[in-house]
Amino acid sequence: MLTQTLTCCSFIDGKSNHSSSSAQLVTKLHPANNEIIYHLAYAEDSDLQQAVDASRRAFEIWSQISVMQRGNILLRAAEILRERLHELAEIEVWDTGKPITEALNVDVLSAADALEYFARAAVAVEGEVVPNQNALVYTMREPLGVCVGIGAWNYPLQIACWKAAPALMMGNTIIFKPSELTPATALKLAEIFLQAGMPPGVFNVIIGGAAVAEKLLTQPHLAKISFTGSVPTGKRILQQAATQLIPVTLELGGKSPLIIFEDADLDQAVIGSMLANFYTQGEICSNGTRVFISRKIHDQFIDRLITRVKKLVVGNPFDHATQVGSLISHEHMQKVQRYIAEGRSAGAELMCGGGQPQGLQQGNFIEPTIFTRCTDEMSIVSDEIFGPVMSVLTFDDEDEVITRANSSGYGLAAGVFTENIKRGHRVAHQLQSGVCWVNNYNITPPGMAFGGIKQSGFGRENGLSSLLSYTQQKSIYIELKEIEHTYS
Ligand code: NAD
Repeated sequence: MLTQTLTCCSFIDGKSNHSSSSAQLVTKLHPANNEIIYHLAYAEDSDLQQAVDASRRAFEIWSQISVMQRGNILLRAAEILRERLHELAEIEVWDTGKPITEALNVDVLSAADALEYFARAAVAVEGEVVPNQNALVYTMREPLGVCVGIGAWNYPLQIACWKAAPALMMGNTIIFKPSELTPATALKLAEIFLQAGMPPGVFNVIIGGAAVAEKLLTQPHLAKISFTGSVPTGKRILQQAATQLIPVTLELGGKSPLIIFEDADLDQAVIGSMLANFYTQGEICSNGTRVFISRKIHDQFIDRLITRVKKLVVGNPFDHATQVGSLISHEHMQKVQRYIAEGRSAGAELMCGGGQPQGLQQGNFIEPTIFTRCTDEMSIVSDEIFGPVMSVLTFDDEDEVITRANSSGYGLAAGVFTENIKRGHRVAHQLQSGVCWVNNYNITPPGMAFGGIKQSGFGRENGLSSLLSYTQQKSIYIELKEIEHTYS
């Protein structure tokens, strides 16, 4: 399925755009052993232009198809995703290094869920009639045109579907540029959409890195950019969007707080904090990596947590027993290792993990790592690490922990564990974040808007607001009387 002889090329206007001899070829390594699994042919200028031309032509057809018909195509695509679950999950594991059980249970299924949700929800998007005694005034939602999606590498297929589904359902066409580290499932998605009956050119995939993405964004006739990735890249994209004056959705990084009160169900809180730190080997933007624990239950909590974390199975991501896979790249692993070293030298206490597991040195593995005795100023507490590193902090009262939780420049997500319903709501209302989970963590049903505030970006994915963000509102005024005027 994935071989060293395979070359991933852009997918434009319904077909794989076989690269010219001048295309830049880049190797793709499997994160668990750093061996070459295939090559990528980066898109050239002519490919970018072709993609925009094809998307514009397809827009003329797609935007005129009824929303019901568009929905049927997305529903069929969701069905194919589910039928091909095992194949797609394996490809996701080859690309990302995440455990196969996660790819089977979350990545592919959540992508299908998004297609199904938006296929059904878009049918209910309506215009409005505005009260006026002289006229019929109404509004309607129109598609924007050719939208660009740019994705990160941690949830490649899910990110592609979170962007494509609302854009497509509202009648837009899309050019999606997956991360150069994980492009394979976006290409599969393009094939699946065609198979489901989508006209060529409606969903196109551009292969390439930062330079290709920057050039893509300079193409004329783009209508919107939806980006998932880091804060510095998000800022750069916003600048580029300004030159074209087009709207942007930015899903950026985070350093989210997870607050565990003394009245929490301790076992649930332990599980929640593990999910918030070690799922997908910690490479999740919304992870709750600043774990604030009430001083009253600190020692008890840490004992239970460490016992469970030490049992986590780190290893071959294709093994169904594996619970923690390999980080995306050697460079990223080195970045995480630098943070672990900084945590140690700053005086945090390493309670478990911190190194590479025995026998797995050829891959980018890091053991699940927990630091206690952390302080708010330490770099492991303030910076997004994007790896399996949990920083534990203690607090004494509610107001204090809310202030400290909100002291981050980020504002993507937050979590609260408490059995006190009043406290759960009260604290959730005061935390500065786009999402707050109470007594769970990292659950993202497609109807729930997802996105951040502050440095974590703006705009939302999922939910009805995401559908509307791929439309423009048009107002229509129909005069019902003679024109009132002062002309003689
Ligand atoms: P990144 O910013 O390096 O890259 C993201 C994408 O942007 C890639 O496709 C990349 O090729 C492209 N890109 C890079 N430079 C660009 C440029 N100058 N112009 C246009 N495109 C450019 O991020 P990453 O390393 O792929 O992902 C990790 C980051 O993404 C973390 O900060 C993480 O928190 C964030 N993330 C956020 C969410 C969310 O929903 N909020 C989800 C996943 C990841």
